[in-house]
Amino acid sequence: STFAFSSPFNNNSSTLRRLLSSLAILEQRDGKLNHGSLSAITAAKKLGGSIHGFVAGSNIKPVAEEAAKVEGVEKIIAVDNAAYDKGLPENFAPLLVENIKKGGYTHIIAGHTAFGKSLLPRVAALLDSQQISDITAIENENTFVRPIYAGNAIATVESSDLVKVITIRGTAFPAAEAQGGSATIEDGVDPNVEISVEWVSEDLAKSDRPDLATAGKVVSGGRGLKSKEDFDRIMLPLADALGAAVGASRAAVDSGYADNSLQVGQTGKVVAPQLYLAVGISGAIQHLAGMKDSKVIAAINKDAEAPIFQVADVGLVGDLFEKVPELTEKLKSS
Ligand code: FAD
Repeated sequence: STFAFSSPFNNNSSTLRRLLSSLAILEQRDGKLNHGSLSAITAAKKLGGSIHGFVAGSNIKPVAEEAAKVEGVEKIIAVDNAAYDKGLPENFAPLLVENIKKGGYTHIIAGHTAFGKSLLPRVAALLDSQQISDITAIENENTFVRPIYAGNAIATVESSDLVKVITIRGTAFPAAEAQGGSATIEDGVDPNVEISVEWVSEDLAKSDRPDLATAGKVVSGGRGLKSKEDFDRIMLPLADALGAAVGASRAAVDSGYADNSLQVGQTGKVVAPQLYLAVGISGAIQHLAGMKDSKVIAAINKDAEAPIFQVADVGLVGDLFEKVPELTEKLKSS
């Protein structure tokens, strides 16, 4: 499909430079704004220019009002329609495209979350733009930095597309301040497209512990835990003593010790907490890709040669079945 720009965003004129304007896609669940998605606003601020936020779903008003308070946002575009509650990309993509065309934005920014990853490439395709994924820095309005090969190389990419469609790595852009702004709220356009996809149900892992992706402290267990029973017996009290979220290596997830949603790494979540404690994890590059930007990395492993110790700031060589309960007791009594 073609994308016609309206004046003053006319690209045919070399004298008319398009004004920089970003649309930050904000996530919500059950009428609550996801504060992690405010990273998109931080990225938009780095670009400069005007910043609008986008929210959609049923009973969207309270979400829009909450988003309007975010520092640095001029306008919230809100679409009230239950069809967008679950963020199905099949109808969310055409919805966004209509609103992007109307607003004439130069940059579309969303988090590199499950939602952003499935949505923005579709938006990019509809706009005939090249999707720019998982950026960790912005050099200027056309130039972005992104890790490739599981973080083993850093690519600097330049885009000449009229509309840059970008997902950002949350750990590289802190969430914008939720207070201090006073944006206006405007109804967005709703194309109300018929879709052949239907939301059936979801089965969410519930936890009272901090959210893995945004927690300040994470304790992760690996294959060294040996079984699900041992994983729970050893790791959960440690997490609670520290007030930490629980993570896991892929080996631990694949062996059924931990839920899929806890996987840290290249094919799991990318985290960058203040403290990351790896227990019985060898430190394969695919695991490091998900945690090596943590501020302090600690590791407990019985093998002094384990590669995790090459990235660890502090390490303890020993049997986790002995050391972790001891550590947990000390934390509890301190
Ligand atoms: P192992 O490598 O088996 O290490 C277990 C460690 O526990 C060892 O170092 C051992 O010394 C230690 N240990 C054992 N017993 C004890 C004990 N009693 N006390 C103390 N220490 C003990 N992996 C991820 O984690 N996340 C990913 O997202 C991911 N994505 C991948 C994507 C691809 C395409 C591929 C090919 C692989 C991916 N992997 C990923 C897998 C990765 O390569 C490793 O296989 C995995 O990380 C190993 O997990 P582990 O460290 O728990 O297990």
